[in-house]
Amino acid sequence: MNANEPNVLPPRRKTRQVTVGDVTVGGDAPIRVQSMCSTDTRDVRKTLEQIHRLEEAGCEMVRVAVPDREAAAALPELIRNMQVPLIADIHFNHRLALEALDAGVAKVRINPGNVGGEARAKEVIRAAEAAGAAVRIGVNSGSLERDLLEKYGYPTPAALAESAARHLAFVDDLGFHNVVSSIKSTHVPTNLAAHLLLAEQTDVPFHIGITEAGMPPYAVTKSAAGLGPLLMHGLGDTIRISLTTDPVDEIKACFDLLKALDIRVTSPEVVACPTCGRIDIDLEEVVRDVESRIADIKIPIRISVLGCAVNGPGEAREADIGIAGGKGSGILFRDGELVRRVPEDRLVDALEEEVRKLAAEREALA
Ligand code: SF4
Repeated sequence: MNANEPNVLPPRRKTRQVTVGDVTVGGDAPIRVQSMCSTDTRDVRKTLEQIHRLEEAGCEMVRVAVPDREAAAALPELIRNMQVPLIADIHFNHRLALEALDAGVAKVRINPGNVGGEARAKEVIRAAEAAGAAVRIGVNSGSLERDLLEKYGYPTPAALAESAARHLAFVDDLGFHNVVSSIKSTHVPTNLAAHLLLAEQTDVPFHIGITEAGMPPYAVTKSAAGLGPLLMHGLGDTIRISLTTDPVDEIKACFDLLKALDIRVTSPEVVACPTCGRIDIDLEEVVRDVESRIADIKIPIRISVLGCAVNGPGEAREADIGIAGGKGSGILFRDGELVRRVPEDRLVDALEEEVRKLAAEREALA
């Protein structure tokens, strides 16, 4: 949370805590950020290269597709060479889920409705239990059971929630509790309504995302529109922002969304003036420069970069540190108080110095 702002969001939904390898999900754990490799899992070198870039970006769990036995056979080598827990994504073939669990994955993602019947789904749950792994029960609007489609006529929110609740009851009856649930619809209002319905029926943590969101920038906007309301309702224990690009971009988008909602802030936030006729400096260039210079800082600090000295002091008050540009010189603020006047060509240097000083102070207190 940003120390300058009151917490005005409803409390986070109380969920049971589950473990995915050494990562906790739900309960009082932070909302976990995850992604999925876009590589062919059988290509271990390329997949590991992508996993390492995801880890570097802060990804806390990585999912890979396991469409065949060759992909399942690649899992042990992936696990041996990565830091974060590996999740196997399985469809249709319960044997692949068993092989993935045998290989040591921390979680399998299955849809119990498409693994060939209850007996096979049960076999997977028992194997997960024996392996100490988690299971994600995934329900997708594109693969809803036939009886629910007949009952509701369409993948409505109620149909999706009922499908998920049915699968969760099945797992619960087996006495297995290390479960995460996901409902995925590419229709934002349906996604929200389905989660609100399911949240009333279970304490299972939710993995949230807007499936098939497409290409950025629209996909990022759509995901924020879909996930923002969920998170502000206190729903969501782990998230993925699905993009049709490099999965590393998904990690930044997730952390940016959590930061924008003031839910999990792991880096500075730069607020800056919009276009405005009073701007006295090359604001776009200054903001880009500031953002690139502080990209390595992993401490929450609110920084404002303002275009003029007229309203700057007032508008900078809610920031930890700010600069307000002027003709020839600008001003540097900290906690709303003037620190000093700085020549325009030294403004970014002065801001960076002050930000690093505050980051060091906060790190020492942490
Ligand atoms: S601080 Fe100055 S430049 Fe920025 S929006 Fe306000 S009036 Fe415009």
